[in-house]
Amino acid sequence: MSASVSRRSFLGLAGGTAALLGLAACGGNNNAGTDGKSYIVATDTTFAPFEFTDENGDFVGIDVDLLAAIAADQGFKYELNSLGFEAAVAALESNQADAVIAGMSITAEREKKYDFTDSYYQSSVCMAVKSGSDIKGLEDLKGKTVAGKNATQSLSWAESIKDEYGFEITYFDSSDMMYQDVQTGNSVACFEDTPVMEYGVAQGNGLEIVAKEEDEFASPYAVGVMKGKNAELVEMFNAGLANIKESGEYDEILAKYLG
Ligand code: GLN
Repeated sequence: MSASVSRRSFLGLAGGTAALLGLAACGGNNNAGTDGKSYIVATDTTFAPFEFTDENGDFVGIDVDLLAAIAADQGFKYELNSLGFEAAVAALESNQADAVIAGMSITAEREKKYDFTDSYYQSSVCMAVKSGSDIKGLEDLKGKTVAGKNATQSLSWAESIKDEYGFEITYFDSSDMMYQDVQTGNSVACFEDTPVMEYGVAQGNGLEIVAKEEDEFASPYAVGVMKGKNAELVEMFNAGLANIKESGEYDEILAKYLG
């Protein structure tokens, strides 16, 4: 994926009519979030099946569809900015985004700085190599270089075991650049979230998973906001998520991407 798709904006139009209905339903009160405010939501560039550009050039994914469905249910408007994971978090911290939806892991460290919505997906982390590689597991990484993605949970796992297994890390901003580095053989392995790597492998990215961490670095995904800010967005997301789980739309969205 080239860098040219990395700063596109996607306008969520789902909110319009529902927002009006929402206002009418509560007697004209200005419900927070239904008063014409449009939330800026930052996301990753390539993190399939959660967000990615499909073969038609459309920006799609589980996060993209969940947000659209929840916004429609709750009647809020938003703009989705595809920035990259580290850049999305930086946008949040510099007040250029109200929220991040990017397969973002809830971690104890992050909970000091951010508030999270209810989680919508359970994840873990893994290590993948080029299919057929001699590297069969962590023990084979001694003296080798692996690829990691800046600011991610899988990178935290890699960093925590780097000295024990004696490998070096090359840092990338996007998952696709990380995979390319393994495909070309510069790095012998990369670290990634398991559902994302499993999806990539199934799509034929030429890699295979040889190690998983499903304990300390496993995590649920949720939407993050700065601590104490955008509480109404968190509430609406949670209410909408509960509604679309109830209605079956949540399951439909997952099935659309995961089969
Ligand atoms: N789930 C991981 C994290 O939050 C990676 C997210 C991503 O790369 N978009 O750190």
